[in-house]
Amino acid sequence: MRLLRLFVCWILVHVSAHGGTLTQAELARRFPAPLTVGEKAADVAAWPLFKQNGTRTELVGYAFESADLAPVPGFAGVPPNLLVVIDPKGTFLDVAVLSQHEPVFVEGLGEAPLREFLRQYRGRSLGQGITVGGPGQLDRVSKATASVRIINQSVLSAALKVALAKLGFVQGRDPGRIGRIRGDRFEPMSLAALLDAGLVRHVRVSNADVERLFAGSAGLDPARALDVALPVTRSKGIVYPERITREIAFGYRLPAAYYTAPDGGAPAWQASWKARRVQLVVLGVALALLGAALWQQRWLVAHARRFAWLRRAWLLFAVGFIGYAAQAQLSIVNITGIVRAPAWANRLVELEPFKPAITLNFVRAWPFVGYAVGLLLLATVVNKAFCRYLCPLGAALALLGRARLLDWIPRRAECGAPCRTCRHRCGYNAIAPGGAVDYEECFQCMECVVIHASDAQCAPRLLERKRGRSIPIAPASSSIDGRA
Ligand code: SF4
Ligand code: SF4
Repeated sequence: MRLLRLFVCWILVHVSAHGGTLTQAELARRFPAPLTVGEKAADVAAWPLFKQNGTRTELVGYAFESADLAPVPGFAGVPPNLLVVIDPKGTFLDVAVLSQHEPVFVEGLGEAPLREFLRQYRGRSLGQGITVGGPGQLDRVSKATASVRIINQSVLSAALKVALAKLGFVQGRDPGRIGRIRGDRFEPMSLAALLDAGLVRHVRVSNADVERLFAGSAGLDPARALDVALPVTRSKGIVYPERITREIAFGYRLPAAYYTAPDGGAPAWQASWKARRVQLVVLGVALALLGAALWQQRWLVAHARRFAWLRRAWLLFAVGFIGYAAQAQLSIVNITGIVRAPAWANRLVELEPFKPAITLNFVRAWPFVGYAVGLLLLATVVNKAFCRYLCPLGAALALLGRARLLDWIPRRAECGAPCRTCRHRCGYNAIAPGGAVDYEECFQCMECVVIHASDAQCAPRLLERKRGRSIPIAPASSSIDGRA
């Protein structure tokens, strides 16, 4: 246990930053002739791709790494890095994996389903709004919905930044929150009708207007007012004329009937939460009930049988609902995700049997299945062997145990000497010979709390009851250290 704690400490001090990795030469190898890779743009981390067409050199797209532009932390806390290529109209030409640490794709499912998922981007346009799941949208990857949503967010956010800088796209906003042109609204119209409908606007720019220069920007979200800029170029001088370009800006808003408005303005990250609304409510109610039960600790431990059944019910709920149904079991990746330690996440997560047993339902390479089954068998002879000796999350949480404010497990003056009932009954060896609780080893199973409250199990109480006398019950916050 102590060794694992050291591991976790090591992780905590090895926080690393993540960014793009490719050089122009490496990109040139990936995009051979007739393509050529231009210099990395100064305003956005993207390389232009050119193609020689006769005597002309055409821009065919931009290549960029998602980690440079949108480092969205993945499930293991590390942003996936994807090589994305879009054409000058904002259509995806390709998306490929450069590096990723999503536990479900590192092992278990492997990278093949991820590559299959990324193939779906080809031919899709940034202007369409691309989401995971739903008609006409990207197909999900079973058991990896959260990971592919993160990857989709990385791809779209990075592509939007490039589109904004290079293609004049919408102001880098969440693609799920922009309006969409309604294709069903086509009708032939005269110029007068277009003017009446507000689809065409008459703008007169005088020479005096040209003298007043304005800067502006164009946007492609039809739900928002557009700042339209008219560039005006003049030549100054005769022998070596200097070309000066200025812009005249004016605003325009498309009438609402011609686009569908964004639904409620919720950002894309909220979609995951909304999709799991029911599960979150069930979990919230369950945690509230658990909190209330722990608050009413005396009631909880007053009857040993009732406590045992409630505990079994909660454990069943944790495995069945939190684990299998909601796929939300706590894992070391929840810690490594916070500290962004991918290399250790990939190793430590394999110490846990959750991925083969719960995430992948034992459909995995036999060494992993054998490991999970072995731990289950070991648990039948060594109480909570995995929790006590192997669990990296437990090791990390043990660090928090040091910061506890209360010695909340009640003890009696007789605990340790002469009575060692709780020490023998504690399945975690968390009670010292002297009777004090070692909170670093304690799993807070409450077994000893039930014994402490029981006339039938706590030796001094049993004795006093037999003698027909009553003894005061120590308050829940009392500790061995505080005894008289
Ligand atoms: S709460 Fe459980 S693990 Fe902790 S000391 Fe008591 S019996 Fe042991
Ligand atoms: S049975 Fe009672 S006296 Fe004995 S160790 Fe447990 S709480 Fe202390």
